[in-house]
Amino acid sequence: MNKIFALMIIASSLTGYSQTVQPWNGKKCAVVLTYDDAIDQHLDNAIPVLDSLRLKATFYLTAFSQSMQTRLNEWKKLAAKGYELGNHTLYHPCIGGKGREWVKPEYDMNNYTVKRMVDETRMTNLFLQALDGKTKRTFAFTCGDMKIGDSSFIYAMKDDFLAARAVRAEMHKINEIDLLNVDCYMVNGETGAQLIEWAKKAMETNSLLVILFHGVGGGNALNVSLSAHREFLQYLKKNEKDIWIAPMLEVAEYVKKWQANTR
Ligand SMILES: [Zn+2]
Repeated sequence: MNKIFALMIIASSLTGYSQTVQPWNGKKCAVVLTYDDAIDQHLDNAIPVLDSLRLKATFYLTAFSQSMQTRLNEWKKLAAKGYELGNHTLYHPCIGGKGREWVKPEYDMNNYTVKRMVDETRMTNLFLQALDGKTKRTFAFTCGDMKIGDSSFIYAMKDDFLAARAVRAEMHKINEIDLLNVDCYMVNGETGAQLIEWAKKAMETNSLLVILFHGVGGGNALNVSLSAHREFLQYLKKNEKDIWIAPMLEVAEYVKKWQANTR
């Protein structure tokens, strides 16, 4: 065996190793922290913890939300600090009906067309661009609803977004991820220990773990306690050598590149 060939074998086995064991930016797994619906408690309770640990997250903002109307400048400042402002639509429409009585008729996706959904979502991108100057964006489906009638609307916007987050509680390896249908674990009352279990599973399976928070210490019917939120984030920070913690946009760009190089 000549020297060059031997080197090639070593290089390819090293690449293989890094892909199977440390596929996430040289780490075992990736964790994306997402906070939905532009809730006051994100500014008041989540940001101080994230800031203190120097962790970056994604905030999926509904442009016409109450908090956005009253605290616009504070949301704007998040972008300057390196947080991602993600698109969570203009009015937060969802498919109304049984069990969804809270959906107002004017924002019921049963009454939407794909064109209206696309236009409102693009308008939200413009609004977010006015806040952070950015043209690359990720999206989070409202209520996990992906269709108007029988039609998926995200494909009409596949050039507007690098990724779209759904709400199925699954985690996947880097080669299994569908960037327009990224799964996530929605938090509702879990303890810090339970959240940490999810991170441990992500490390064991070399997966992407996306966390979806709504209320943090209140602010929403779906909630995480301040102590559980803090305990989980502290655990992530402590294990930063094995866990890549980054906003969705950064992780989506990485996955896209990785998949393009290996397919
Ligand atoms: Zn939402």
